[in-house]
Amino acid sequence: MNRFFVTCESCQRGYSAVFVNEPDQGYRCATIRIGITLQGHYGSEIADGTRYQLNAGFKLPEARLWCDLCVEDLLSTGAISEVVEEAVVTDDDDAAQGTIIACLQTDAQ
Ligand SMILES: [Zn+2]
Repeated sequence: MNRFFVTCESCQRGYSAVFVNEPDQGYRCATIRIGITLQGHYGSEIADGTRYQLNAGFKLPEARLWCDLCVEDLLSTGAISEVVEEAVVTDDDDAAQGTIIACLQTDAQ
């Protein structure tokens, strides 16, 4: 395998590597399968920073590295959908409430 080339394990298309000696990140081919989820990385035009989850009733082929075209196929057939991360705001709210309680206690003294 050419070290400047990244191959999609699903469709076997070749893509140029984003980094030298980094076989998992190509231009438009940088989505990694982790169990029943797909995680897009730098290099992908559609999936960078995005996580997808396999939907019920579908099977995810064994391929580990996916190109954008293959990810688009999975999206169009409804096999995967984007995972919406839970809001991180909860932690900030707790911190803010802690501050308010501290203020109230100070006032009470
Ligand atoms: Zn592919």
